[in-house]
Amino acid sequence: MKKTGFLYDPRYLLHDTGPYHPEVPERLQAIYQGIEEAGLLSNLVQIQGQRADMQWIEAVHEVAYIRRFEEVCYAGQKSMDTPDCVMGSDTFETALLAAGGVIKTTEMLMQGEIDNAFCAVRPPGHHAETGEAMGFCYFNNIAIAANYLMRQWDVGKVGIIDFDVHHGNGTQHIFEKDPSVFYYSIHQHPSFAYPGTGREFEQGSAEGRGFTKNTPVLPGHGDEEYGHYIKRDLLPAFEKFRPEVILVSTGFDAHIDDDMSDVKLSTQAFTWLIETALGLAKEHADGRLISVLEGGYSLKRLPELGANHVRALLDA
Ligand SMILES: [Zn+2]
Repeated sequence: MKKTGFLYDPRYLLHDTGPYHPEVPERLQAIYQGIEEAGLLSNLVQIQGQRADMQWIEAVHEVAYIRRFEEVCYAGQKSMDTPDCVMGSDTFETALLAAGGVIKTTEMLMQGEIDNAFCAVRPPGHHAETGEAMGFCYFNNIAIAANYLMRQWDVGKVGIIDFDVHHGNGTQHIFEKDPSVFYYSIHQHPSFAYPGTGREFEQGSAEGRGFTKNTPVLPGHGDEEYGHYIKRDLLPAFEKFRPEVILVSTGFDAHIDDDMSDVKLSTQAFTWLIETALGLAKEHADGRLISVLEGGYSLKRLPELGANHVRALLDA
């Protein structure tokens, strides 16, 4: 029988961003509640967070950056590198527990204990650069997992699909020279869209040229355009690349009711997106897929989006 893992830990709520920030603990509570009320919890292999082994953080991030993050956090500094990256005294520890939880989930996948998984973590990761916190992100959870897959499990090809409405600049930069990781992102661009990277001409460099693909979408675009672009850009790229494991940067912030973007995806579109990723995983990766939460800020919509997401993983 197929098994779906669900990483969630109440300690992920301890990263305190204060009263004026969209990336709040209530986001995770809303997702958890949606999954619980849909009656899905008992069908899932529940996974708790654990501190990441520092070697896996250091494999992606500069040691000086990790030390600086720890120091400014415990020194009581209220933000880091950018006013976006608000922190409390538990932020460093929470970020370690998030990255470690994703690593643990990845290990369980490779040991065959689960077939796929959703990691409901915070802080998110895809904007985090090797030496810089950005866009609510400190440690790049998905990049750490991809690197762990390659080094610990000798996975030769990792496919990353990022459908958060913002471009995952950190993930792209970390792997842009690496032909072992294909990074695909669909995101709003341009028109004031954060972080400003992710143009179509950004296709990787050196040996990694051709292993990065970006689909910028315009404000106002929705289900129809996404359907068209995913079929045009993602499907042929992954058909050719044939990933052995698929990692998904799951952001729910392209939803029509999410104030963080002007993209207008319906609730159903998010189910289609993860089903499409699962279809690629089934075709190429023996079904192996791990979805890691990035953005998504509509507390009203997150319960249904979380429940539908997990249901698609269970049904795969
Ligand atoms: Zn986002």
